[in-house]
Amino acid sequence: MSDQKRFRPEERVSQGLKFEEPLIFERSRPGKCGFVLGKADWDVEPVDEVAALGDLYREEAAELPEVTEPEVVRHFTRLSQWNYSIDTGLYPLGSCTMKYNPKVNEAMARLPGFARLHPYAPDEWCQGALELLYELERLLCAVSGLPACSLQPAAGAQGELTGLMCIRAYHEARGDSERTKIIVPDSAHGTNPASAAFNGFSVVELPSGPDGTVSPEAVAAAMDETVAGLMITNPNTMGIFEKEIQEICQIVHDGGGKVYMDGANMNAILGKARPGDFGIDVMHFNVHKTFSTPHGGGGPGGGPICVGADLEPFLPVPRIEKVEGKESPRYSRVYDQHPQTLGKVKAFFGNFLVYVRAYTYLREYGSDLPKVSERAVLNANYVRARLGETYHVAYPGRCMHEVVFDDSSYKGLGVSTLDVAKRLIDYGFHPPTTYFPLNVEGALMVEPTETESLQEVKDFIAAMEAIHEEAEANPEFLHEAPKSAFRVRLDETRAARKPVLTYRQFRDS
Ligand SMILES: *Cc1c(COP(=O)(O)O)cnc(C)c1O
Repeated sequence: MSDQKRFRPEERVSQGLKFEEPLIFERSRPGKCGFVLGKADWDVEPVDEVAALGDLYREEAAELPEVTEPEVVRHFTRLSQWNYSIDTGLYPLGSCTMKYNPKVNEAMARLPGFARLHPYAPDEWCQGALELLYELERLLCAVSGLPACSLQPAAGAQGELTGLMCIRAYHEARGDSERTKIIVPDSAHGTNPASAAFNGFSVVELPSGPDGTVSPEAVAAAMDETVAGLMITNPNTMGIFEKEIQEICQIVHDGGGKVYMDGANMNAILGKARPGDFGIDVMHFNVHKTFSTPHGGGGPGGGPICVGADLEPFLPVPRIEKVEGKESPRYSRVYDQHPQTLGKVKAFFGNFLVYVRAYTYLREYGSDLPKVSERAVLNANYVRARLGETYHVAYPGRCMHEVVFDDSSYKGLGVSTLDVAKRLIDYGFHPPTTYFPLNVEGALMVEPTETESLQEVKDFIAAMEAIHEEAEANPEFLHEAPKSAFRVRLDETRAARKPVLTYRQFRDS
């Protein structure tokens, strides 16, 4: 417990903490119980536990914590209050698109017909679910401008893996076996080179130009008959639209390659530009980002891919098919009519309830979908224009849905991007993404999303400005931030290398 800062009494109270830290979790006391089972001693027949439970009756009590119901409720409610969430404030994690999750999505995902459906139920029993999946595929195809979709991949990274498997299978099917490389720009998310490597490709890194984008000349120079394709993110991870994308795709196609688009930033171009129209052959959506789903803490997600006609034969099975019937259409899962399929990449259809949320979200916006992107881009540019007076914007000019600052305005003061991010916690905001993209020094990437009001965005800007003043006046002070959080500054290396994953470890150390 040595390096954990202990709370002063007044801080304890403000955090709802009345006990020594190990006791937060050690609430069990012998004999306490959270329920009563008919120990009636007046004129009600007591419940015969043994008879009521039959075979399920156990001779020895399970080793569970012995606590009362209010203790359990208070324990978990308290833990939830120590956390930060999108339901309590702005969550400007660039690239992650942490937007507010409409509660109607949750209501739909909890409908028993969806939530309690068994994935092995025969098609006749789950026509509604199959219709929803089919319609979601159609909507994603409409947004992407590509003709076919598979909902199987469980998240963006698996979408990348699956999409590249399609590209590999495409070349193999043509007997084009010398294509062993994938071109990836240096600003790409780490999953891009990882997915390429997982597919057995070697990665050719492409440096971004001085304006933060990929140039057609650089792609042309890297392109030859050993290149299977290019992976590109558009808008890219600097929040800049790759304006030369059509020419870039043409160069790759002329060289016999395919273009994969990382669609994590689709939030910026919904209903505005379709990847299929600017030359993309295959892309993934991160539906848990773009179309909302609570995705803090690592999941669950959805990473469907959309592909052009050339790649469609290789999509995973089952595919969903719609056949018009006499009275109503019939939906079925089709396994055996796709001889070139990759097979399965994930059990069933990915995370079904994430897709119920995405479908609800898309239907809720309907033809207003482009407004999502308009507002997301407006919010980001408002942050860029206002904060750009104090902080240094990495690449000048308008941005899309996110804006990247570098550390040049405070590095000279002895303040790091980590300091600024940690201090934001004291102001009541979740920090933006830090130190990504890697090609920007001390990057601070802000993505406000469309769901934040002007007031919330202004409050964030005010906090960032106040922190810059603190950095100028007293840089030392920022090294100790955050000061008001339940946990103060952690040793990040130790936290990563030797994580304390149970309170017992903490108690016993
Ligand atoms: C989030 C993200 C990914 C990975 O997606 P997951 O859904 O987390 O697997 C890939 N690329 C970019 C640019 C991202 O922001």
